[in-house]
Amino acid sequence: MASKYKSDKEWKEILDPEVYHVTREKGTEAPFSGKLLNNKETGMYVCSNCGAELFSSETKYNSECGWPSFYQPTKEENIKYDEDNSLGIRRTEITCKNCGAHLGHVFQDGPRDKTGKRYCVNSLSLKFEALRRNNKD
Ligand code: FE
Repeated sequence: MASKYKSDKEWKEILDPEVYHVTREKGTEAPFSGKLLNNKETGMYVCSNCGAELFSSETKYNSECGWPSFYQPTKEENIKYDEDNSLGIRRTEITCKNCGAHLGHVFQDGPRDKTGKRYCVNSLSLKFEALRRNNKD
């Protein structure tokens, strides 16, 4: 998918092939394969293509579905929602509103004591930025 940012050709040149496939061709990484699945560090998950802030570690939880899961985005305005009827299933696709990168899907089976939503995101769509320590302390 092209975006205001770059053409498909340009994305293909700068992204790893597996990242390109997931984010620009709406692929899905194999479940339990992503390197951020079990990451429990404190920090921010940003778009792997453009660096937009997407999910805080504070909203990450273990959904046991095989992909990093969050119960809410850090900034609602950074997420685009689209109906996805591929595979004969009705789902809501989530993409980075800034660059159009495919992130995953949002489902309604998230933690009931929070938002009730599960943002199910490919590790390859994300980059993790650990919070920097304050050197003055
Ligand atoms: Fe992005």
